[in-house]
Amino acid sequence: MVKAVLLDIEGTIAPLSFVKEIMFPYSKRKLCEFLEENWDKPVIQEIIRDASREVGKELNLEEAVETFSRWIDEDRKITPLKELQGYIWEEGFKSGELRAPLYEDAYKKIKEWNEKGVPVYIYSSGSVKAQELFFSHTEYGNILNLFSGFFDTKIGSKKEKESYLRIAEKIGLNPEEILFVSDNPDELRVARKAGFKVLQSVREDVQPSEEFKKIYSFEEIEL
Ligand SMILES: [Mg+2]
Repeated sequence: MVKAVLLDIEGTIAPLSFVKEIMFPYSKRKLCEFLEENWDKPVIQEIIRDASREVGKELNLEEAVETFSRWIDEDRKITPLKELQGYIWEEGFKSGELRAPLYEDAYKKIKEWNEKGVPVYIYSSGSVKAQELFFSHTEYGNILNLFSGFFDTKIGSKKEKESYLRIAEKIGLNPEEILFVSDNPDELRVARKAGFKVLQSVREDVQPSEEFKKIYSFEEIEL
């Protein structure tokens, strides 16, 4: 019997396109204004120092805007960019300019599970801090309280069986008692190996895999 649910975010309860089509363009659009306003802050100067080291020269404001903007276009996974984007997004969420989209069927089902006393957990590669920011500023308002806990890659990679065993231990249930829903076959495969019940979420651009039972909407999930 399923006693708890573990959910992936992107491609499962929120559109995959959000990061690429909303978050990245937002950070690019706000880059110049944000750096102008926050240039002298120590945390920002620290990021600029890291970025300067990366390009091998000391960046002034104008050059920094140019450099970060290029890195966003190139989708570079480097710390100074990730950190700067984190600050820009935080401001965007707090001001209400950014709001996290959720699939309505997922939101409704999560609420229903809450009412029935089934705890819901999140496992995403975005940091727990980013997850909390996301869920406290959604299209449905602050829904942090609908979740019993958040996991990120600090517990281990989403593609390693041991991570799921550790999560089960933290939740305090046997793996067989936890349902994991994700769009990613690699994640589902290892979670199943760890003993979890799994369902593949198939949204817009996800290829259904024959290996797993699929759902096209959370309405289809019966615990
Ligand atoms: Mg996903």
